[in-house]
Order: sequence, then C-alpha cells, then structure tokens
Amino acid sequence: MPIADSSAGDLPPEAFRTAAHAAVDWIAEYLEQSAHYPVRSRVQPGDIRAMLPAHPPAQGEPLDAMLQDFHATILPGITHWNHPAFFAYFANSASYPGILGELLTAGLNANGMLWITSPAVTELEQVTLDWLRQLMGLGDGWFGQITDTASVSTFYALAAARERAGYDVRTKGMTARPELPRLRVYCSEHAHSSIDKAVIALGIGHENLVKIPADDQFRMRADALAAAIADDVAAGFKPIAVVPCIGTTSTTSVDPVVEAVRIAREYGCWVHVDAAYGGVAAIVPELRYLLDGVDGADSLVVNPHKWLFTPMDCSVFYTRDPHTVKQAFALLPEYLVTSTPDETINLMDYGIQLGRRFRALKLWMVLRAFGREGLAERIRRHCELAREFAGMVHFEGGWELTAPVTLSLVCFRLVPPGADEDTIARVNAAIMERVNARGHAYLSHTKVAGRYTLRLAIGNIRTDRSHVDVAWRELRGAAAAVQRAE
Ligand SMILES: *Cc1c(COP(=O)(O)O)cnc(C)c1O
Repeated sequence: MPIADSSAGDLPPEAFRTAAHAAVDWIAEYLEQSAHYPVRSRVQPGDIRAMLPAHPPAQGEPLDAMLQDFHATILPGITHWNHPAFFAYFANSASYPGILGELLTAGLNANGMLWITSPAVTELEQVTLDWLRQLMGLGDGWFGQITDTASVSTFYALAAARERAGYDVRTKGMTARPELPRLRVYCSEHAHSSIDKAVIALGIGHENLVKIPADDQFRMRADALAAAIADDVAAGFKPIAVVPCIGTTSTTSVDPVVEAVRIAREYGCWVHVDAAYGGVAAIVPELRYLLDGVDGADSLVVNPHKWLFTPMDCSVFYTRDPHTVKQAFALLPEYLVTSTPDETINLMDYGIQLGRRFRALKLWMVLRAFGREGLAERIRRHCELAREFAGMVHFEGGWELTAPVTLSLVCFRLVPPGADEDTIARVNAAIMERVNARGHAYLSHTKVAGRYTLRLAIGNIRTDRSHVDVAWRELRGAAAAVQRAE
C-alpha cells in the first residue's frame, strides 16, 4: 500500500519520524563500524544501474522500502570515504556535528540568495568564515563566502583577476576585439587542474596558463616565475594572475607565496592562493608558517570538506577585494530589488549562483564541537601518523620516499633491485591494485618528475595508528606477492 494520499501534500510526519530515526541510528552505527566494509566499492560499471528499475514508480512507495534498497542496492556501490583506512586522493570525513548540520540544513531548506531571504544564512556564513580566518591566523580584512568546491572558488578568483585587468570583458566579451592582448595566468607545473578548467571556462584559453617549473622539492621556482612574466610582458602579453599552491595535490609541496606576491605586485597581477587541502593545517600553531605571505594575496581557497571534518560539500573562498569580485558578477533584475540598506551583503552578488544552500551551519557546528584545540590536535595527529608511516617506509629495505613529508601525505614506492622506471611503475601499480582490491585499505598514485609514486593520504577523523599499520601490512604483503609473480 502506498503510504501517501495521492491527492496532495507531503507524507504524514510519523512516517518521516520513524524512517529518520532509523536512518540516524544506522549512520551512528555505520560510522563506528565503517572499517568492516571494503573501502573501495567492488562493483563493475553498470552493476548498480542493472539493479535499479528503469522506470519511475507510478504510485508512491513506503520509506522503509527505500531504506531497504539503500542497503541492498546502493551501499555495494559506495566507496567508503568514511572508512578510517581510506588513504587515497585526499581523505576526508563527515564528523557527527557536520552531519547534524547537514540534517538541519535540509530541514530548513533556507535559500540565502539575498540577506532578506534568510538573514541567518548570510550572517552565520560571515561569522563562521571570520572564525575560520582567525583559527588559521590570518589578518583582518578578508571577506569570505562558501562555495561548493575549490574549483568554483578558483574560478571566482580568476574571474576577479580578469575584471581587475580592466578590459571590461564582462560587458564586451573577449571575441572580435583586436585591442585585447593575450591574458596570462601563472601557476606551478604541479598546480591542480581546477586552474586549467578556470582559464578554459573564462575564455582566457588553456595556452595562456603558464606552468612554471618546480625545484627538486616540487615548489614553484620564484626565479622562473619572474622570468616567465618578464618574457610575456616583452612579448606584449598581459599577466593577470599568479596562483601559488599551499599543499599541492601530488606531494603537498608548498610554493613560495611571499616571493610570488612580491613578483605579482610588480606587474599588478592578482594573487590567488590555492590551499584547498593544506590551508586548514595553519590551525596548528607550529604549522601556522604555511600561510606566511597569504595576507599579501588577493584571494585564498581552503576546503573544510577536505581536512576539516565537514561533510561534502564546503569550500571557502576568501578575498581581500570583494569589490572586484562583486564587479565581476553583480546584476540586479527587478524581482531581486530589496529595500535593505546598501551595505547589506547579498551573497548572490559575489558569484555565479543565485540560490544558496545553508552550508555554514555544518561548518559552524564542526568548529564549535571540536574547538580550536580539538581541531589542531586532530590535524597534528594526522601529520604525526604520516611521519610514522614515512619512517616505516624509510627503514624498510627496497622502499623509498619520493617526496618530503610536509603534512599528512606520504609519497613512496617499492624499488626492486635493478628495476628501470617502467618496471617500477608496473610493479607499484600492481601492488596498489592488489591492496585496493583486498578492501582493507585504499591508496592512490601519482607521477612526480616522471616517477610513478604511491600516495598515502591521512585525513579521516577516525584514522589512528592501527589503520596505518593495516595499510603497511597490506602493502608489504602485496609487494611480496607481486614480486613472486614477476
Ligand atoms: C582538492 C584540491 C582542489 C580541488 O578541490 P575541489 O573542491 O574538489 O574542486 C584544488 N586544489 C588543490 C590543491 C586540491 O588539493
């Protein structure tokens, strides 16, 4: 029997209450037991789809049927990011306070497009992001807004850089304008692909993203940056932005922000700092130095949904020049005109999206539940675990570290005696695949300076030494098996 009266309205509240209590009980149990699931999903492409009806139901179905299908059909297709032995990419976590915030956000369903459409959405966002700024030890004068991802935050930064360059692209576009020089953007050869996507989407063109070579510790070379900009200016190009990274994706190397700011200033370039993963580490007093120089930049992105225990999605875009960001995006159709004072912040003016989820609530709850010391302690512990794992790799014959351990990521690989690069790549790919297929730990890989490298990234709130030990045991077991088979 369908439980909803088909005539009108939502389900009866009792139906929600029963199902929601069951769901909350399940989540609590899941997070305590997540180590019992295989970390990486074992399904093949199309398996989940094949288990799902091709057509929507004609009549409403009961909520408990959906919860049953969630367990039987959906869960097998989940890779468990909340598993404490998830070490791939950059590990993240949904903490209990963050989940609670998400639930309440869904319940309210407030849309913070304008201040008046939910004053608390705008004001809590401003206050929470100012708290986060203070936690990271940044100076005053930063304006923050929450976006879905670092990719969008970086897109906003480069849109503002293009606006500041002064060619009125906003009005005139970039085509059929012989007077427009080539706009140029600079980042390290190890920078994240989100910068590539932003220059593509903004019409700057992929060819105009200049990838600056890095030093032997994978940091952007300031001398090469200065030379590249000078060459471009001599060629008649227009440098508009430099994007140093604090915590690159492959190795968590840290670009020289102080020098990048100094060089960029000479040419009037916008400086956007990509600290999507690494920025929150500055909450730890002894890691505060990571953000040295950032107060001289124009914008910064950090992702609480990466290493700050906040559920997906929650990225923070800070800028010292909200006026230019606003200039790049603001429009006011009549139906959005309100009578609030001019200085009222309407967040729709600072980006592409109109409607805005109440994402600040979950971040606020995370910051309050753990506090400055609790957050710092957890991030510090992840860095310690990374150093402990690096120690195990370093002292084990046949294995090597391939990058310095700056934060909570370890880059390493097995080097069989006499093996060339191709063999090393093949052996390590086989080791990783074997570990990941067994399901007790999950790692990913990268290539640094042409060298195939495994990555173990620590960042889940439930990860402790026992999970790191499991990963190391799995890796050594897989290495022995792969070498026997060679
Ligand atoms: C993860 C990451 C990004 C992209 O983050 P999204 O929020 O997934 O867009 C960008 N830059 C760096 C350095 C990252 O680590």
